[in-house]
Amino acid sequence: MEQRGATQPVWQTLPDLSVQKPDHEVSVASQRRCQGARRRVWHAVLSVAKGHDGEWFGGSQLVMVVAYWPWRAEGSKLATVSFQSGGFMRRALITGITGQDGAYLAELLLSEGYEVFGLLRRSASAEVMGERLRWLGIESEVRMIDGDLMDLSSIARALQLVKPSEVYNLAAQSFVRTSWDQPLLTGQVTGMGAHNVIEAVRLVAPEARFYQASSSEMFGKIHQEKQGEKTPFYPRSPYAVAKLYAHWITVNYRESFGMHASSGILFNHESPLRGIEFVTRKVTDGVARIKLGLAHDLPMGNLDATRDWGHAKDYVRAMWLMLQQPEADDYVVATGRTVSVREMCRIAFACAGLDYRDHVRVDDRFLRPAEVDVLLGDPGKAKDKLGWEPRITLEEMIAEMVEADLVRHRSRMR
Ligand code: NDP
Ligand code: GDP
Repeated sequence: MEQRGATQPVWQTLPDLSVQKPDHEVSVASQRRCQGARRRVWHAVLSVAKGHDGEWFGGSQLVMVVAYWPWRAEGSKLATVSFQSGGFMRRALITGITGQDGAYLAELLLSEGYEVFGLLRRSASAEVMGERLRWLGIESEVRMIDGDLMDLSSIARALQLVKPSEVYNLAAQSFVRTSWDQPLLTGQVTGMGAHNVIEAVRLVAPEARFYQASSSEMFGKIHQEKQGEKTPFYPRSPYAVAKLYAHWITVNYRESFGMHASSGILFNHESPLRGIEFVTRKVTDGVARIKLGLAHDLPMGNLDATRDWGHAKDYVRAMWLMLQQPEADDYVVATGRTVSVREMCRIAFACAGLDYRDHVRVDDRFLRPAEVDVLLGDPGKAKDKLGWEPRITLEEMIAEMVEADLVRHRSRMR
């Protein structure tokens, strides 16, 4: 035992700590009050500590256990415990970590105490690769491993190196419009690439939990007014067809091999980190440029399409919750509200004190060969089973995006 002075915690050795749940709940077999400690702090040697999958907590480890909990009787459970030294941290591998969702998911997992690894495809422009991670201030906290979804061996190698307990497949050619110009590439990356990832997980890390980023675009020409997990699919673009393949291969691997593989059918979600080619970000960027006198017009496509838009920060929480469930499953993640592109334009321009009718004009170049007219999700299952609900409204999100784009353009003008 090491005495650290009157106002410092006393370090004690606990003879027996057993980790009972993956959420770090431990029971304390023997303890003594820490003198002067505002939090309960122990230094403990865990001889046997096994997580639910036998991976995370295995082995003998020297750890510091910090419990933010009032003094409890012997044998009682400590609900909020974090392991401060290495060895017990959960490991996640994210493909698509440089994208919008990858960045927010990495931020969430880091805050949950994970070691986060990302699969990074080579680019000649190294400085733009970590742009979103830099924006969130976490680029030095994630570890990158070279790899590409088209190259199964690179994914297998990454899995061997990382030994993750959770794998999130977010990588894709994700822009619907581009999928008509590069249909085969979209099929290979968005469809077969997902198959490569889940096959590599099956071969190299079969105990790892797997998340597939499926899309509301799979509903396409909708069969039900509100789309839920049981709504039939009718894809309307090469992107949506590729996503459907990836979705069903995820379901198939779960059913064939008993893998913990979940598919999140996510409706459109946006943020200041959304790619500039997507409609919300195109509009908020346009609003900022028009407000600052850098442009006057904003050429747009179909203003009558409606989407169920949420915030990416809310949606990555749903991804993570899916992998914390005892059983893998498929979930629709949506807000349950649909808004037209026209109304979204009105909201965005109003954020800067502008009237969209003075600036938005329809340009045929932005119309699509086949359109998805309406999307409206039913997030009932995610609410019931995951306890998930969106926290950020469309109006709040658009205001945040307009503000971020104003900041970006002002800093470029200096
Ligand atoms: P982004 O387009 O922002 O990110 C896509 C990511 O995939 C990038 O990191 C990109 O890397 C990576 N990538 C592309 N091709 C490859 C490849 N061959 N090998 C390895 N990595 C590759 O997408 P989002 O973050 O918005 O979306 C995440 C996932 O969720 C995607 O699969 C998307 O289709 C899906 N989805 C998104 C929705 C949304 O509204 N955002 C809705 C429903 C589903 P690089 O930076 O090098 O280009
Ligand atoms: P998607 O739902 O994945 O295709 O996401 P997008 O943000 O690319 O498009 C959402 C909707 O906005 C679609 O119905 C588009 O046709 C419509 N839209 C209208 N004008 C534009 C535009 O200028 N750019 C984009 N990307 N979409 C537009």
